[in-house]
Amino acid sequence: MYREIEEKVILSVTPGSPAAEAGIVAGDALVEINGHEIVDIFDYRYYICDRDPEVAVIRDGKRLELGLVKDEYEDPGFEFRNIMLAKDRHCANSCIFCFIDQMPPGMRESLYFKDDDLRLSFLTGNYATLTNCSVEELKRLAGYHISPVNVSIHTMNPELRVRMLGHKGAGNIAEKLKILTDAGITVNGQIVLVPGWNDSEELRFTLDTLLNYPKEFNSLSVVPVGLTRYREGLPELRPFTKQEAIDTIRLVEDYRRMALILRGNSFVYASDEFYVKAGLTVPDYEDYDGFPALEDGVGMLRLFESQVDEFMGDRRRLARVRRRLFFKRKIRGTVVCGTMAYPMISAQVARLKDYCETAHKAFDIAVVPVLNDFFGHEVTVSGLVTGQDLIRTLKRMELPGELVFIPESMLRAGENVLLDDITTDDIEKALDKTVVAVENDGAVFCEKLLLGKAALRQERGLSRKRR
Ligand code: SF4
Repeated sequence: MYREIEEKVILSVTPGSPAAEAGIVAGDALVEINGHEIVDIFDYRYYICDRDPEVAVIRDGKRLELGLVKDEYEDPGFEFRNIMLAKDRHCANSCIFCFIDQMPPGMRESLYFKDDDLRLSFLTGNYATLTNCSVEELKRLAGYHISPVNVSIHTMNPELRVRMLGHKGAGNIAEKLKILTDAGITVNGQIVLVPGWNDSEELRFTLDTLLNYPKEFNSLSVVPVGLTRYREGLPELRPFTKQEAIDTIRLVEDYRRMALILRGNSFVYASDEFYVKAGLTVPDYEDYDGFPALEDGVGMLRLFESQVDEFMGDRRRLARVRRRLFFKRKIRGTVVCGTMAYPMISAQVARLKDYCETAHKAFDIAVVPVLNDFFGHEVTVSGLVTGQDLIRTLKRMELPGELVFIPESMLRAGENVLLDDITTDDIEKALDKTVVAVENDGAVFCEKLLLGKAALRQERGLSRKRR
């Protein structure tokens, strides 16, 4: 009778807590609070706030009712095995541009999981298309005011959305967005733009529609379709040409100007990839309105550059670095990145070189763009560079110094593993160099490059202490 009981299993109970006093034990599955079935974390968070709640748990297949004695909002004292208390919702679409469909076989299983879950959007920032979320379910979630959420829009033309997402229920996006914005939920939208499908006049229609949405519809990013070399059996798509990228940016910029008048911010943002493809300069720092779509590759180049500006202008920080550079004769190493970021990274490294010359330090940092042979050369972002491409590229070269700096975005969160399961240890062995992962922050990048091993020693010393 209850849904997904195994997802509601309690992992641990704090001794002496209200839960322990009530007789709840690890292994119980919490299925009801005050007569309300718990569907997911949002139901749980809402109902558990009550004072002295009655809960129902399933233990050894039997339902038990227990009373907790606790104040309103007091933590009951248990943790769940699955923080969502529900299975991640699998996507029900067959999008013509799906990146997962274009991945080669043999990669780690989790990379093939297609989630499409508004709850995950709120909890972890994923994008959801809302096709597998019924109007009733959306109303339930909206009632909990899960905000902000990220929604994959792609087009506001219902018939085109059905075709692009391969889902016959994809057309009622306007109704679903209205439920969210009426509930005061902040929505950040995304459009994956596909040439010949939802670009030019179709994009104009979508932007016309969304520009008039209430202010809760906060931002809209426009990113070009990502195409790998594994598209056998999939709809025939092609990348944007340079001229099409220029036309798209012009169109987006027209709407940015209108949005400034109508809404007080730029509202719609073309991704960095479009600007690089078009050979145009990315907008100024202020034009990104606080960078609402960074995770979508919108404004990363500008933000990084501005962080380097800040570093170079911070006299105290520079003086600190300069003191630590006192005994260092040469600054040497290799920086790797995807081909898209290469011009910007090279320009920042050139600035550091100029600075070092004024400090009379020899500077020999090579910047190496890694061509993505694994996915195909249309894939240019650093985050999709694999270990095998990185090793192959660097092995052919004479690399200055002992350190290889790689962007942290190449690694799985919190681990030293690249997309193809090659680890930084594997890279170190293959190249006989030390790998330094660098956060996506221009100032940290400068400091790590200048300090080299000293920064590394400090970092490793700190992480030892933390352990
Ligand atoms: S929603 Fe579309 S793009 Fe996302 S995983 Fe599903 S099929 Fe792929």
